[in-house]
Amino acid sequence: MDIIEEVEAILGYGDTCNHCLGRFFGKRSFGLTNDERGRALRIAHEIVTNRPHEEPAPESCWICGGELSRTDAWAERVVDAVGGIEFETFLIGTRVPPLMAESEEMVWSDLSLRDPEPLKAEMNREVGKAVSGLSGKVADLQRPDVVAILDLSDESVEVQVNPIFFAGRYMKYERGIPQTHWDCRTCRGAGCEHCGFTGKQYADSVEELIGRPVIEAFGAGNAILHGAGREDIDARMLGSGRPFVMEVEAPRKRSVDLEALEAEINRSAEGRVAVNLTGWADRKMVQSLKSDKAHKKYRILVEIDGPVTSDEFRTALDQLNGVTIRQRTPRRVSHRRADRVRERQVIDIQCTGRIDGCYQVEVVGEAGLYIKELVSGDDGRTTPSLARILGRTAGVVSLDVVQVGTTNE
Ligand SMILES: [Zn+2]
Ligand SMILES: [Zn+2]
Repeated sequence: MDIIEEVEAILGYGDTCNHCLGRFFGKRSFGLTNDERGRALRIAHEIVTNRPHEEPAPESCWICGGELSRTDAWAERVVDAVGGIEFETFLIGTRVPPLMAESEEMVWSDLSLRDPEPLKAEMNREVGKAVSGLSGKVADLQRPDVVAILDLSDESVEVQVNPIFFAGRYMKYERGIPQTHWDCRTCRGAGCEHCGFTGKQYADSVEELIGRPVIEAFGAGNAILHGAGREDIDARMLGSGRPFVMEVEAPRKRSVDLEALEAEINRSAEGRVAVNLTGWADRKMVQSLKSDKAHKKYRILVEIDGPVTSDEFRTALDQLNGVTIRQRTPRRVSHRRADRVRERQVIDIQCTGRIDGCYQVEVVGEAGLYIKELVSGDDGRTTPSLARILGRTAGVVSLDVVQVGTTNE
C-alpha cells in the first residue's frame, strides 16, 4: 500500500481531522506539524483521486472529537490551574480515555502503519508550546518544577508541584529532641490523652523545628529532613553540626532567600536547634547523604561502678583503640531493627578529663558504631567493651556528637 492508499483507507473509517490524519504519519518528514501533514495528505489524496476538496469539522473527528483543535483552550486551563504557584519549568502530561487510544491503535494495526505518533504525544507537545507562549515558561522533560496533567475525559487539569531541596548542617543543643517526628506509641499518631491529642511521642523534633519556618517561607505542604545518620534522642549534636538535606514538598514559592531563612530558623528554634544552610540541593544529594559512611566523633561522660584509677581507666581505653568491635543489635533498638551481628572499628578513643566523678571520653568511630554499648557491653552483646575490660559495670551518662564527617566543607 502506498501512502495515498493508506490515506484512502484511513478516511474510510470516518471523518478524521487533519491533526489525527497527519499523526498516522507523524514520524515521517521533519519541520511539519501533524495538522500541516494531515492537510497536505488530504489534498494529495483528493488530487490523485480527482475529488473536490473537503475539510471535515474538527469536532466530527472519530478519533479525537476535535480535542487537538482545542489545545489553546487547554493551555489556558493549565495557566489558570498553576495560578499562584511560582515555577520556571513545566511538563504537560495527558490522560487519554482508553476508547480514544484504542481507536487509533486499531488503525495502526489494521494498516500495519510504521510511523504513527500517539495522540498523547501530540497533546503534550502542542499544549506545551501554547503554555510556553502564554506564560513565558519553558518545558523541561527531565526535572520540571510543575507537572500539569490534562484529563481529556472531564476537561480537568491536575497540577503536581515538584519538591525543592536545600542542604545544610544542624546543631542540636538540647537533649530529648528526636531528629524526626515520632508517632505516639499509644495511639500510633491518631491522637489520644497520652499525647495531648497531638499524635506525637515528642512535642518537637529537629525536623519540625527547622521545618516550620521552611513550610511558611515556601508556602509548602510539608518539609522532610534527610540527615546523614542520626544521633540518639538524648544526645546533643554539637561542633559543626550534622549534614542534612531538606525536601520541601509542594512549594508554592521557590525563590526563597536561604540566608534570611537560616536567620528565621535560628530565631524561631531559640537555641534548641540551629542551622547553617549551604545551598540548593537535589534528590541525588539525598541518596549520597544516606550512603555517607563518614566517621563520627563523640564526647561522652562515663560512669564506672566502684573505684578505678585514672591509670587503670586509660589502660582499658588503650585496649579499645583501633580495635574492631563485634556488636549484636542492642537491646534498646532491637524492637525496630533486625537482630544481627556487625563489626565496626573504634578509630580513636581518649580520656580527656574527669567531671563530677565521671570520666570524659572522646571517641571517633566508624559510621554505625554503637557508643553506649561499647562502654556497657550490653550484657555481652558487644565485645570487647570497656565494662568487660575493667571487669566492672560501666555506663554512658551523657553523649554529644561533636563531629560528623569533615568540618571544612
Ligand atoms: Zn482528530
Ligand atoms: Zn497518642
